[in-house]
Amino acid sequence: MLRIAGGRVYDPANGIDGVVQDLCIDGGRVVGDVHGGRSIDASGMVILPGGVDIHTHVAGAALNFARGLTPENYRKAVPFLHGPERRAGLGGITPTTFATGYLYAAMGWTTVNEAAVPILSARHTHEELRDTPVVDKASLVLMANNEIVLDLLEADELEQAREVVAWLIWAAKCYGVKAVNPGGVAAWKWGKNASNLHEPIEGYSRVTPAKIIAGLAQIVDDLRLPHPLHIHCNNLGIPGNISTTLETMRVLDGHRAHLAHLQFHAYGGDGWGTMRSEASTLADYFNAHTSFSCDAGAILFGDAMTITADGPWQHLLHQLTGRKWGNVDVENETGCGIVPYVYKGHNLVNAVQWAAGLELLLLIKDPWRIFLTTDHPNGAGFWRYPELIRLLMDVEHRRDCLKKLPKRALRRTVLADLDRKYTLSDIAVVTSAGPARALGLTAKGHLGVGADADLAIYAQGPDGISFGRPRYVIKEGQVVVEDGEVRPASEGREFLVRPSYDEKIEEYLRPLFQKVYTMSFDNYPVEMERLTRPDVRACE
Ligand SMILES: [Zn+2]
Repeated sequence: MLRIAGGRVYDPANGIDGVVQDLCIDGGRVVGDVHGGRSIDASGMVILPGGVDIHTHVAGAALNFARGLTPENYRKAVPFLHGPERRAGLGGITPTTFATGYLYAAMGWTTVNEAAVPILSARHTHEELRDTPVVDKASLVLMANNEIVLDLLEADELEQAREVVAWLIWAAKCYGVKAVNPGGVAAWKWGKNASNLHEPIEGYSRVTPAKIIAGLAQIVDDLRLPHPLHIHCNNLGIPGNISTTLETMRVLDGHRAHLAHLQFHAYGGDGWGTMRSEASTLADYFNAHTSFSCDAGAILFGDAMTITADGPWQHLLHQLTGRKWGNVDVENETGCGIVPYVYKGHNLVNAVQWAAGLELLLLIKDPWRIFLTTDHPNGAGFWRYPELIRLLMDVEHRRDCLKKLPKRALRRTVLADLDRKYTLSDIAVVTSAGPARALGLTAKGHLGVGADADLAIYAQGPDGISFGRPRYVIKEGQVVVEDGEVRPASEGREFLVRPSYDEKIEEYLRPLFQKVYTMSFDNYPVEMERLTRPDVRACE
């Protein structure tokens, strides 16, 4: 039992905006009252629901490949790792699993969504999620380039495709469906991409990116998954991709969808020399179409690791930068590319990217539909979220940063004209309440009775709140961070879904596996025992 007494509570999901009140916790959940147990005096402090990262990359083979590409990071240690109960962890832009869990917790984030899991390596991903301490986890399975699904779309067998997708989600023990560069990753296996949404992709006569997007959105709706289709649009990172992003939303019309790392899809111009931010155009459309949510995918200057299933984009980035490049083929399902990267303030393209992420966060009016992310580690490490929070809350600071950008970049963004300032309540929405709602995690992102007792308590100094350095972090009612040090804690849960499907679909899949997979059908599904604390959520 725990009573947190006298803190100023920001709980936007329950309409509480800076009210001084006690919070009572029992059995890992928020309750109406407690008698006895520990009490924390939070007077003068601010309480926010624990952060929920709706789009991050923290586990799986691609991360290990990325670490292999940056051996210099093996010399970087991570703070917080004191005491015998905690494990060692390596730092750098792609921290190892233990360090990842500690770093998120130390920052006040208590739930993370691993946004890209190839089914073929899902077992490995779950092994790593299991070793990511403190935080609760969900994960999304990659589906927009799965050749079994694409073949069914080619034959217009949407119902059969739905059965296959449902079976695959359960086989991977994942929570939702991710579409990355629909059709483009499959085409990349032939050295091609899919840049026009309405042209058939390589190897198919009827499957277009639009057909994949609409088909998967329909399937996700039909399966009643708690989280809508999570989409990384075609033409990520390319000047002029605004037209593709708008067209993707038109194709999705009528369906719910979550658009990932929107900053990378908000560019105008017809080449690198003319690239500009089209965040205003994108925000206008987005504001008028309320079935969508998105996350910012903001960038910050400094080290990053670009790592995505979008193989063709990564090859282009490698050609543009001359930096190290890794490419992986995941048979029949997806691909992956990795390029270590550094965003620089004096680089025109990077400056436009920096501004575009902030513009989206400021121009999309409803904080319940845009969430704080850096597409970790693509735009910046997740531990830099506090820098973004400051840029959103402090207009003067934002303008000072803007002045340091190249003059040419300033003409390609409207950021200087924006004087919107986030409130603490807005911060609670974009970091927690909003992403929890978009993920359909009903006990997350708020502090009402029955909610998971996940929260961060911040001291208020003369300069305001030190985001990133909460005084306490509570996860499921346990004090997991106190005075900047991570305490031993129970492992986080893993959320997954079991959408309904006809078992007969296995009769269709088994011979296909015999024919085209190097792994046998019986070894393919991840066993439930791989997950330490599975939490199967209803599809309703
Ligand atoms: Zn991503």
